[in-house]
Formats: sequence, structure tokens, C-alpha cells
Amino acid sequence: MMEKSVRPILEMNAFDKQSPHNTNVARRLANTGASSVLFYRDPIEMVSAEGVWMTAKDGTRYLDFYNNVPCLGHSHPAVVAAVSQQLAKLNTNTRYIVPIVDDYLEALKTTFPEPLSNVVLTCSGSEANDLAMRLACKHTGGEGFIVTESAYHGNTSLVTQVSPSALKNTKLPDHVIAIPPPSKKYYGSNIAQGFAERVESAIAQLEQRGIKAAALLLDSIFSSDGVFAEPDGFLKQAVEVIHNAGGLYIADEVQPGFARTGTAFWGFQNHDVVPDIVTLGKPMGNGFPMAGVVTKPQFLDEFCADVGYFNTFGGNPVAAAAGLAVLNEIKNQNLQDNARILGDYLKAGLQKIADLSPHIGEVRGSGLFLGIDICHPNDNNQPDPEVTLAMIDKFRDENILIGAAGAAGATLKLRPALCLTKSEADLFLQAFKKILDDI
Ligand code: PMP
Repeated sequence: MMEKSVRPILEMNAFDKQSPHNTNVARRLANTGASSVLFYRDPIEMVSAEGVWMTAKDGTRYLDFYNNVPCLGHSHPAVVAAVSQQLAKLNTNTRYIVPIVDDYLEALKTTFPEPLSNVVLTCSGSEANDLAMRLACKHTGGEGFIVTESAYHGNTSLVTQVSPSALKNTKLPDHVIAIPPPSKKYYGSNIAQGFAERVESAIAQLEQRGIKAAALLLDSIFSSDGVFAEPDGFLKQAVEVIHNAGGLYIADEVQPGFARTGTAFWGFQNHDVVPDIVTLGKPMGNGFPMAGVVTKPQFLDEFCADVGYFNTFGGNPVAAAAGLAVLNEIKNQNLQDNARILGDYLKAGLQKIADLSPHIGEVRGSGLFLGIDICHPNDNNQPDPEVTLAMIDKFRDENILIGAAGAAGATLKLRPALCLTKSEADLFLQAFKKILDDI
């Protein structure tokens, strides 16, 4: 069961519907109605972006610590050129041989360990997770899924059921068990063992309901749960548990993937495990919509014997061009190293400031994916979503964009582009200190 304090991820820092003083907010509301998701109580109108910076209509330049999609930086010239050239030449579905598509698939596959040698390209992370779940059900004959309490895995009907953070009032269905994220708060000092035991009891709980576990589906850095990366290797035991029960391990790399954690290209590699299925998305095309599933040929053989899978836009040549540019740039610009070096620098700086503040609990994370727990003064176990929200607004006043995650919405989530520089990291650290001094 979810905790009472769990806040739907899309509701965090949502705009204020009661005061659409700005005509553009009213316009958006009229167009997208209740599904509107604008950020900030007073939303920002953006006009352009470059590198780690976004520019608003009023000329304000914002340092973007929120958006993990433009991993190379906004409007990256290599991606713009690759996409424009391919779009001007040929764009079609995957029913024809177009070498750039296979060039991309082969380049992508070099980043994965054996036996993960088949790729299905999709257009969104949701579609990728939807297919991953279907592959797992087909292979195992089970239909149970184990996820974490504030997980988000996407928006299809199937995937929403395994995304507790997307559910506002609805209870999880019987075939889904949500377990606490791998935090010290829940599991004490032996996270690996505590988390594995919880997976074991979830499998037993499913069995009691007459449901066989199909998969353990985990975001490799537990992004919406509040960012849990430490200690390395803590997932290994849990993966053994699901495998022993005949279930699969699906690694959702939509957020941590593509070198962001600095120590590895894929988040699961920090745990010394090989998933059965990996799902990818967000940074894959640096903003060009593309996603995918990487898996063992056997699972696709089994699935496709029964049902066809075709995705009109998935894996089109323009997506392949974008994806190839992303892989090349990550390598050529040593962005994984930059994520590690700048991430370590940022984390050490944050920790130093946090040590002097009663509002900060833990600083966690790996590379350029960090989480900062905001707590009630002098009680590290008491999350403080109100102060977190106030800090997000104060960061905005300092021209910095940042969001929150976690069950209570009280973990600041940092995910700047992998090209972040030291001076940009320093700007963030200065603002963080100033904001804490002012609280
Ligand atoms: N998995 C994770 C971990 C995500 O964060 C998201 C998107 N926030 C998704 C899957 C779904 O991706 P998309 O929005 O591209 O469908």
C-alpha cells in the first residue's frame, strides 16, 4: 500500500488554476483542460534554449537544473544538424532498409552486455515500459509486478497501474505491489538485504492473491522516489530474489541512462547486475522523441509468435540520426567523465553547505543526478514539502530551474545537462547557500 503522504508527481509545484492572471495560462487551460501540467504557480513563457540555459520571453536566462532530456545541452548543434539533414533526405517507417537505422542500433548495442542484443525502438518511455511488461508476462506466464512506492513508469493503461506516483485516489490493483524505496530510513544500514527481503515478501503477497510475479520493475536510480544510488551494488540481492521466483528484472533507464550517473553508462551497471529487459527514453534523442526496449532475442521470439509489434514512428531514420549524434557526442565530449567529475564536485559542495543547515537531511545520488532531502529543522526524518516548494520558488527568483521528487515531494532533484561547467555548478551552489541562509 502507498503511504498517505505520497504526492502525485505531476501535482508537485503545479500552476495555480485559481489565478490564471496571465492570458497564456488561461489559453493553455482552455486547450488542454484538466490535463494541463504547467510548472510553477506562476508559469514561465520560454522562447529559446542553449546548453544548460533557457531564455524566457522577458529576456531572463534560467540555469536549467531540471530537464534531463537535453543531455548534451539544449538545441545541441550536432543533433540539430543530424536531424535536419536526415529529415531533408528521408524519413519513413522501419519497413525499408535504411542503413542509418542499423548503424544506430549497432552503436546502441555496444553499450549493453550480452545477452541484451535485440532492440525495439518506440517513441516514448511509456510505450517502452508497456512492451517490457508484456514481454515479461508472456515469458513468465505471470502477471504480478513489484515496483517502488513513488515510482513513475509512464502513462499507458498498463504502465499507469505500476506507477503509484501517477495515481491520485485509486488504489493499486491486486497484481501490483509497491515496496518502500531503497533508503536507509526504511532499511537501516543494510539496504541490499532489507530491500531484497521486501521483494521476497511482495512475491509471497502476490502468491497469496493467486498471482505469479512477472517482474521486478525498477528505475535504476529511483528518480521519482527521491534518488537512491548508494551503496553501489545494493540491487544485486533483490535481482537474485526475483530470478529465483521465476520473475524477470526490468531496468527502467529512462531517467538515469545515457551516462548521467557518471560512474556508468547505464544505472544498472552500478549494481553489477544484468537485467532481462532494459527500457530507455528521455535523453536518447536529446529532445527528439525516441525511446526503446533492449532485451534478449528469446523474449521477442516468444512474444512475436503470438502478437505483432509495429510502431509507425519508432526507429525512424530521423530518430536514428538524433540517437547516433547523442551517442557520438557523449563519447567525443567525454560527457560521462564530466558527469562524474562535476557531479562529485557539486555533491561535495552541497554536502558542505548542508552540514551547516538544519533544513537538510541527506544529499544523495551519483554523477549529475542528485537528490537533497529537505526536512523540518532538527528532525531529519520529517520531510518538509512546504519549505521544498518555497525553495523551488526561491531558486526561480535566482534564475535557476529545479524540481522535487519523493513520497512527500520534499527531495530537491538535480539533473542538469551533462555538459555542465564548474562555473555553472558554482552558480547553483551559491544560490543554494543564499536560499538556505534566507529561510
Ligand atoms: N520511466 C521513467 C523512470 C520516467 O521518468 C518516465 C517519464 N517521466 C517514463 C518512464 C515515461 O516516459 P515518457 O514520458 O517518455 O512516456
